[in-house]
Amino acid sequence: MQSGKINVQTENIFPIIKKFLYSDHEIFLRELVSNAVDASQKIKTLAGAGVYSGTLGELAVQVAVNKDAKTITITDNGIGMTADEVERYINQIAFSGAEEFIEKYKAESATNTIIGHFGLGFYSAFMVADKVEIITKSYQDAPAVHWVCDGTTNYELTETTKDDRGTVITLHINEDSVEFLENARIKTLLDKYGKFLPVEVKFEDKVINNTQPAWTKKPVDLTADDYKNFYRELYPLTFDEPLFHIHLNVDYPFNLTGILYFPKLKKSFEPQKNKIQLYSNQVFITDAVEGIVPEFLTLLHGVIDSPDIPLNVSRSYLQSDGNVKKIASHITKKVGDKLHELFFDNRADFETKWDDIGLFVKYGMLSDEKFNERAKGFCLLKNEAGKYFTLEEYQNLVKPNQTNTDGKVVYLYTNNTTEHHSLIAQAQKRGYDVLVLDSPLDAHFINMLESKNEASFARLDADTLDNLIKKSAETTSALTDENKQQLQPVIESVLNDSSYKVQFENMQADDAPVLITQSEFARRMKEMSAVGGGYDFMGTMPEMYQVTVNTNHPVIMKIASQDDVEKQKTDVRHTIDLALLAKGLLKGQALTEFINRSYTQIN
Ligand code: ADP
Repeated sequence: MQSGKINVQTENIFPIIKKFLYSDHEIFLRELVSNAVDASQKIKTLAGAGVYSGTLGELAVQVAVNKDAKTITITDNGIGMTADEVERYINQIAFSGAEEFIEKYKAESATNTIIGHFGLGFYSAFMVADKVEIITKSYQDAPAVHWVCDGTTNYELTETTKDDRGTVITLHINEDSVEFLENARIKTLLDKYGKFLPVEVKFEDKVINNTQPAWTKKPVDLTADDYKNFYRELYPLTFDEPLFHIHLNVDYPFNLTGILYFPKLKKSFEPQKNKIQLYSNQVFITDAVEGIVPEFLTLLHGVIDSPDIPLNVSRSYLQSDGNVKKIASHITKKVGDKLHELFFDNRADFETKWDDIGLFVKYGMLSDEKFNERAKGFCLLKNEAGKYFTLEEYQNLVKPNQTNTDGKVVYLYTNNTTEHHSLIAQAQKRGYDVLVLDSPLDAHFINMLESKNEASFARLDADTLDNLIKKSAETTSALTDENKQQLQPVIESVLNDSSYKVQFENMQADDAPVLITQSEFARRMKEMSAVGGGYDFMGTMPEMYQVTVNTNHPVIMKIASQDDVEKQKTDVRHTIDLALLAKGLLKGQALTEFINRSYTQIN
C-alpha cells in the first residue's frame, strides 16, 4: 500500500471547492461522466490506431445510485489508469487543475459568473462527496489499483483485483448532497448534460443519450425531416415547427459545428430568448449564450458546439476573446447568407415567412452594422394590401406620388388596419400607398431607416393627409375668420381638456370634419422608450393630441352658421365625440352620454 500527501500550494482546497459554486454542485456529474466518455473514446482511438489489440467490447458508461449505501458510481470500460497514471493524472494534474481553477475564480469579481464552471474536472466530485474511490485497470498490462481520498489532501493507493479494463468511480455522498441520491434527480441531470454525449450512457438500464446528434453529421446526409426531428429532440415541449435552419460547420481558424433554427417569432420576442444550447464536444455547457453569439441572434434556437470557446472565464472576458469574436461574426455572416439565399432562391416562400422573421431581421439591422448592410437587399416592407417590397422597390413605387414639396419621399403607415380603416380609405382615395408596421421594434426600425435617409415615415393618425404629404398650394377655407373665432372657444369648452389642442385646417370637403391626431415624433419616441434603447424620459411625457377642424367640411359650415347657441354646442359635442370615437378615445361617462344622446336622434 502506498499513502501520500497530494502536493498543492493551498493548504486544503476541498472546503473552498465545496463552498464555491454552491448552486452548481450538480456539475460533478457532467465532469465525471465526460471523463468516462473521454476514456472510452481514447480506447477506441487506440484500437483504431492498432496500439491496442485486445477486444474493445461494447463501449458504454454506466451511472448508478445506491440510496442505502449513499453512493453514486460511474463505471466505464475505457482506457483505465495504471498506478503511475493515477499518481500523475489524479494526484497531480487533476489537483493542480482544481487549484488553478480556484485561483482564477478568486481573481474574477463576484459579479462575473463563470460560464459552465468548466475545468474543475475530477475534483468537483468533492463538492458532493466526502469520500471518493477510484478502482481502475489500464488497457496496458498492469495491475488494477484502488485510490481513496477522504476530502483532505491525504490519499491511499493500493493494488487490487479487477478483471476488466476500465474505471469505476464511487462517490460517498455527503449529508448536504443527499438530493443526488434520488434517481429522478440524476435522470434530470443526465438529460441536461448528457443527452448528446458521443458514447452510450446507461442509467437504470436505459440508454439516455443520442450519440450521433444531427449537428455532428454532414448536411448531405440529412433530410429536411431529420432537421425537424432534431428540433423536436432539442425542444420536446415546443409545438411550433421551425421555419428553416442553418447548419454550421467550420474547422478553421476555430472549430465550430451546430445547427441554428429560425423559430416563428410572431410579434413578441422576449419569451423566446435563450434557446441556443452551447456544447463542447457534445457535452452540454450552458443555454445562456450571451457574449458568444450577438444579442440579436439569441432569438434563434438550436445548438452550437465548439471546443474553442474558453469556458472557464467570465462573460466580460469572453466578449473580448479573439476566437469568440470571430465565432460571433462568422455566425452573423452565415445567418445573413442564409437569408439572402432564401430570398433569391424562392422569393414567394420567403414572403410567406416574412411575418415571422421580419422582427428578427429588423433586430439584426438595428444592432449590427454589418448585418444591416447585408439585410438591405432582403429586408421587406409589407403594405396594407399584403404585398411585399424590398426597400428599393418601395422607394420606386411611391416616389412619384408621395414626394413632399421639399423633395422628401413620405412613407405612410398604419399599425392597425382595423382602427385606421377610414384613414386608410382616405389615403387610398388620393392614390397613396399604406404600409403596415406593427411590431414592437418598428419605431426603432423606422428611425434607423430615416437616419439612413431612406424616406420619412408618417403614421396615418399623425396629422391630416395634406400635412403628412405637403403638396402644391394651400386650398382655401370656406369658414371665415369670424366663424373660426366664434367656434374655437365652443370646441375648447366641449373638450375641456388641455391635452387637446384645437386648430383649423383647410382640408378637402370629403375629408373628415374633425380629425384627432397625435404627433409622429412624440408618439414614436414613446414607443421607442417602451422597448428600451434610450428615450426613457419620454415614457413619462403626457399624451398630447391635435384636434383638427376641417374648414371646408359641410357639417362644420352648418355648425358655424347655427344661430341657436345651445343647439350649436350640442352639435359640436356630437361631432367631437364622433372624432374621439373614431380614434378610440371616447370612454366612460362621455361614451354613455354619447350613446344616450344618439338614441334621442331617432324620431
Ligand atoms: P480533465 O478531464 O480536464 O483533464 P480531470 O480532473 O477531470 O481533468 O481529469 C484528470 C485526468 O484524469 C484526465 O485527463 C484523465 O487522464 C484522467 N481520468 C479521469 N477520469 C478518468 C477515467 N474515467 N478513465 C481514465 N482516465 C481518467
